[in-house]
Amino acid sequence: MGRLDGKVALVTGASRGIGRAIALRLAADGARVGVHYATARDAAAAVRAEIEAAGGEAFLLRADLSALTGIEGLVDDLRIALDGRLLDILVNNAGIGASGTIADTDEAGFDALFALDVKAPFFLTQQLLPLLADGGRIINISSVVSMAAYPTTIAYAAAKAALNSMTVSLAVGLGPRGISVNAVAPGATATDFLGPMLDDPAVVGMLEKASVFGRLGQPGDIAGLVAFLAGPEAGWVTGQLIAASGGMHL
Ligand code: NAP
Repeated sequence: MGRLDGKVALVTGASRGIGRAIALRLAADGARVGVHYATARDAAAAVRAEIEAAGGEAFLLRADLSALTGIEGLVDDLRIALDGRLLDILVNNAGIGASGTIADTDEAGFDALFALDVKAPFFLTQQLLPLLADGGRIINISSVVSMAAYPTTIAYAAAKAALNSMTVSLAVGLGPRGISVNAVAPGATATDFLGPMLDDPAVVGMLEKASVFGRLGQPGDIAGLVAFLAGPEAGWVTGQLIAASGGMHL
């Protein structure tokens, strides 16, 4: 028996990186998983294939979540895939990052960040309220940059701080329905998100030293915590921001 048997989950941005690891982990625990992607269809199909090869169940959903039309399209497609069922677990993971001080952040970059990292989880959650099962789980993927001063990624840090705020308010708002809402804050994690930084040994060394374990995070390090929050053991945990960062900022 899997700890998430009978549950249906949606993981946004599940084609790559942290979302991919979360989708694989929730499916391994027994959930039927909606693997959402924006552009990387082959990668998302490979995630579905990996889940099915391991005996799990998954379905694909494509949407650009940076606009409300994309969010509404995703909800329509999900409704069809659910076929009268309700969604048990929503993982708002899709996101982009950007570096920049206040002086060198322009309006377009700021708006792109807030569109995907703030507006998308806000309106996707809003649109999914009628499809979410009472007693369900919402897990927002934040970042440790929202928990300290990061002047060189100021807009991204502010976007994730907005997500943290939304998490707490939603936890209160959805409490009467028994839905828990938590945020997970990864530290530096080895995915495409870090881009060319991963090719620079000096930067990698600095990121490794930021963790008390002396290494970069791996997507599976984040997926384990998300799976815990999605499962029956975490039913009394809500409105929390939990870092999965290997002890950054201690
Ligand atoms: P990633 O490897 O770059 O993957 C990003 C995912 O987001 C992909 O699945 C991508 O879909 C999807 N996405 C991008 N633009 C989209 C759009 N317009 N609409 C819908 N989906 C879109 O990133 P990651 O490292 O796994 O990051 C996942 C989450 O963790 C993000 O919220 C990020 O802020 C957070 N995080 C990451 C780190 C880190 O160091 N990696 C640290 C802290 C927090 P396609 O593949 O289809 O384009």
